[in-house]
Amino acid sequence: MSVQVLAAEMAEVELKDVPSKELTPESPLTTKADDKGIVESEPKAAVPSATTPTMEPIVKTGDPSPGFLTPNTKMPQASAMKRTDPQQNGGEAFVNRDGTVAEAPRLKKIQFADQKQEFNKRPTKIGRRSLSRSISQSSTDSYGSAASYTDSSDDETSPRDKQQKNSKGNGDFCIKNIKQADFGRREIEIAEQEMPALMALRKRAQGEKPLAGAKVVGCTHITAQTAVLMETLSALGAQCRWAACNIYSTQNEVAAALAEGGFSVFAWKGESEDDFWWCIDRCVNLEGWQPNMILDDGGDLTHWIYKKYPNMFKKIKGIVEESVTGVHRLYQLSKAGKLCVPAMNVNDSVTKQKFDNLYCCRESILDGLKRTTDVMFGGKQVVVCGYGEVGKGCCAALKAMGSIVYVTEIDPICALQACMDGFRLVKLNEVIRQVDIVITCTGNKNVVVREYLDRMKNGCIVCNMGHSNTEIDVASLRTPELTWERVRSQVDHVIWPDGKRIVLLAEGRLLNLSCSTVPTFVLSITATTQALALIELYNAPEGRYKQDVYLLPKKMDEYVASLHLPTFDAHLTELSDEQAKYLGLNKNGPFKPNYYR
Ligand code: NAD
Repeated sequence: MSVQVLAAEMAEVELKDVPSKELTPESPLTTKADDKGIVESEPKAAVPSATTPTMEPIVKTGDPSPGFLTPNTKMPQASAMKRTDPQQNGGEAFVNRDGTVAEAPRLKKIQFADQKQEFNKRPTKIGRRSLSRSISQSSTDSYGSAASYTDSSDDETSPRDKQQKNSKGNGDFCIKNIKQADFGRREIEIAEQEMPALMALRKRAQGEKPLAGAKVVGCTHITAQTAVLMETLSALGAQCRWAACNIYSTQNEVAAALAEGGFSVFAWKGESEDDFWWCIDRCVNLEGWQPNMILDDGGDLTHWIYKKYPNMFKKIKGIVEESVTGVHRLYQLSKAGKLCVPAMNVNDSVTKQKFDNLYCCRESILDGLKRTTDVMFGGKQVVVCGYGEVGKGCCAALKAMGSIVYVTEIDPICALQACMDGFRLVKLNEVIRQVDIVITCTGNKNVVVREYLDRMKNGCIVCNMGHSNTEIDVASLRTPELTWERVRSQVDHVIWPDGKRIVLLAEGRLLNLSCSTVPTFVLSITATTQALALIELYNAPEGRYKQDVYLLPKKMDEYVASLHLPTFDAHLTELSDEQAKYLGLNKNGPFKPNYYR
């Protein structure tokens, strides 16, 4: 099935808002915490109730979104949700997409007090470099793109000191080198191949411009995948100005291609802290142009506007936030009653989570291990700690490569799943002496402690796929009797006095985000969700969304998934009227209750 056919078919799908009664034929009136500490309303609780005091006010069914997704394809409304204090990032590390790692203890608040931005008094080149590691720490818990091939030039001149113009004479951008535009264009075209949903949205937008009049200011990783998103937003009618959410992750050639295409991009790889805020400021602080939508990844842009230009929020219709950290910040603002526009939490949408956790890890675990160690997987004994989504992905990949895989679990249900999937469930101490590779995916702390590290055999590879760097007790290895040898980027040999060495990857931080790439298709899911969230917030009638944080509803997730199906020539079965009635579902979805994950 071609993308066009799908787009046409999707246009026929009537994603009607259905009464909550129909949505939840059997769902109990409870709130539940998901694996990220989120308390999400089960659908029937969509009516504010005295029995659900922890719920944020839930938006009731309102008018359908005008334009793009109507009349035939209504954008489903987001449901509000409230996050408990999940300690999401407490004491954890954030790994930049370029493989560098930043410590992010707790949510790092932007130090606005120290950042009286006097952009004319800029630091020297050395000063810029020395500042560079300290910034953007809160913005690194989301994916950038594949590895960047940028920065081959020796040009040390700061982009801020250069006057560049694109071939049309436009100079409203600040990037490393506009001459790299052709190279960047090829990168974007490659990414387009794996981002079918955005391409489908573009085709659908040929007659409609659901973002006409939208002035989107964005702060995300500037990569080929983001470029596909930006060009899609533009095709949908939006004007975009963009800065990087991370000082290292910008693909310079992609930034060049965007600037050549007329986008106002302010970003380059290796920005200093001062550059970082300067770029954000250049995006928002412009005579005669004010943003009315924010697309943020990490919350830095949102907070910059809050602190420096609070009046801008009078015109801003909504915020779409991508990262764990940024979402957490929004919930804090909401809790404090300081959130003054509606915000969409893209991070916790089901489709994104599924792809990020299971499928992304299934693909990238092998990539991360191979790139760092060149290890052969066949016949190797591997222990995977944790059999949640990430663990399942890792186990499946390793098993397929012929590894002998053991699993450790604390939860009997996941443990039973591991058994049923054919893995030996063990305690770590039972296999620690014999295994060749140890992988943690628990989201927990101190899973691999010094005692286990001491007992590992020579050459054992130790790595982590969980969010935080607390799973392996790396600190316990920093003792005088052990020698550390950096053998490759992100690869350390830790050597015991008797000569035994273990191979520690990425110092215990997320292996795949540190040492490999993330499949573009995974990023496509996120980018599509971001685009749809922008469309919905921008077109929502007054009153549909309050000053709150909203979770994307199942229907929107289903729609994002639908847009990706043609890639596989997949043929979705439609419910008959009789079947829909039998299951108590609307024929057009949602097909699962909101609590389904
Ligand atoms: P999950 O909750 O589904 O799975 C974690 C599993 O670990 C659970 O089944 C839990 O019972 C088990 N567990 C907890 N403590 C344990 C222990 N001491 N020993 C053995 N098992 C233990 O979570 P998930 O979706 O699989 O995510 C796991 C981690 O990976 C999280 O930190 C998550 O943020 C992170 N993550 C990483 C990536 C990536 O690309 N590397 C992607 C998504 C999520």
